[in-house]
Amino acid sequence: MNDKTIQLLKTLPKIDEVLLALEKDGAFEGVSRDIVVEKCRQVVDEMRKDILDSEQGGGKVSAPSSAIKAAQKVHKRLLALHDYSLRRVVNATGIILHTNLGRAPLCGEALKRIIDVSEGYSNLEFNLDKGRRGIRYDHVKEILCCVSGAEDAIIVNNNAAAVLLVLNALSEGKEAIVSRGELIEIGGAFRIPEVMEKSGAILREVGTTNRTHLSDYENAVCGETGLILKVHTSNFKVLGFTDEIGLDQLVELGEKKNIPVMNDLGSGCFVPLDQYGLEKEPTVQEVLKTGVDVVTFSGDKLLGGPQAGIILGKKVVLDTIKKNPLNRALRIDKLTLAALEATMMHYLDLDRAVCDVRVLRSLTEPVAAVKKRADALLSQLEEVSLKEMTFSVVEDHSMAGGGSLPTQEIPTVVIAVNSHSISPSRLERALRKQEVPIIARICEDKVLFDLRTITEEEFVFITDGMKRIAGLL
Ligand SMILES: *Cc1c(COP(=O)(O)O)cnc(C)c1O
Repeated sequence: MNDKTIQLLKTLPKIDEVLLALEKDGAFEGVSRDIVVEKCRQVVDEMRKDILDSEQGGGKVSAPSSAIKAAQKVHKRLLALHDYSLRRVVNATGIILHTNLGRAPLCGEALKRIIDVSEGYSNLEFNLDKGRRGIRYDHVKEILCCVSGAEDAIIVNNNAAAVLLVLNALSEGKEAIVSRGELIEIGGAFRIPEVMEKSGAILREVGTTNRTHLSDYENAVCGETGLILKVHTSNFKVLGFTDEIGLDQLVELGEKKNIPVMNDLGSGCFVPLDQYGLEKEPTVQEVLKTGVDVVTFSGDKLLGGPQAGIILGKKVVLDTIKKNPLNRALRIDKLTLAALEATMMHYLDLDRAVCDVRVLRSLTEPVAAVKKRADALLSQLEEVSLKEMTFSVVEDHSMAGGGSLPTQEIPTVVIAVNSHSISPSRLERALRKQEVPIIARICEDKVLFDLRTITEEEFVFITDGMKRIAGLL
């Protein structure tokens, strides 16, 4: 260790000195002393490490340390502890079910129900008629069955949990037959073969990537078979020389051989999207009509509700699943139940659901209406006449996202930002740093705001953000 390093190390403050400097600043407000002491220790440790590292690398730290310097750093970190990390953002990407941006936004009623139910106590597991213990699923069972035509319902934390639970309950130690064309990866490490392994079910692959025949399934059925599984290939399409077996044929085979049939639907759509000019997506009602034993899907994909895994199907089969100990480990909480119940109520009238559930509204909104909103935002942006920035309204495409409708291009209208004084990547970053961050997309060297995923109430975040950014240029 050289002399300079030794001298610098000597200037490192003691924790007590840093605490004293902080007290003068009044930085203790709202944080308990133990946390403050720990932050002081972290900062002084880092200062020591910087001095030692700089000797190795030839010297970056040359100024002496002091209690004041350390206190300033600690103060900053203490303030940051009060900043919320999980925040609202504006999704200007045009990806309607953006997995990184929280997938489905909730409807107003769902938000109200969350507050109402969780502000005080609730009847989560209390039967108000009988005055004794109740069942948490019962709050949404009736409405789910009524809208879907299922006999019974179980709700868990998410669809990955639903798949794991059903596989474990129906096929642990037994073979689950799946077509090779359906051994999908959803992202976030959810892969059917791996979930199956964790569930204890034994994967029995049949057919090929592009073609699977009924005889492939028939030949695989044996004494060891626990389940026939069909997985909706929600996030990709195989085109060309392909063949897959319809769910109805698998149900027929299952009935003949007395083997339960499960369909992992993924998206869980209740509305016939083809009637709104979109690709056909099997609806939950259609799927259940085939007589399939169990269907699983997400609460926060095309359903447009809170994160949840919904399991619908025949009562005898669901009774077995309910008894599984994993069910308790994966169970849904009261906030989610409150939001799911409110979301499902919109589905009592499917025409209403298309307007009231935001993801469905975003998916089906006529492009003319999106254009109207783009024009309105354009005039608001022009009104504030931002330094060296101009805007143009351009036709483009949005996407469903969230592993739903993978090849569907949804016509949209975007506002493109033109500026010589700020690069698109700098602008994109600056938008992200706003109080309400705006997440935009860059295409062909332009920052775009896709109006399909932006509501009128969110305009103010964009105009304010752009004003602030333009003021800095
Ligand atoms: C999205 C998806 C899942 C996982 O659902 P999460 O709710 O994200 O856990 C499982 N299977 C399929 C087919 C999916 O599309």
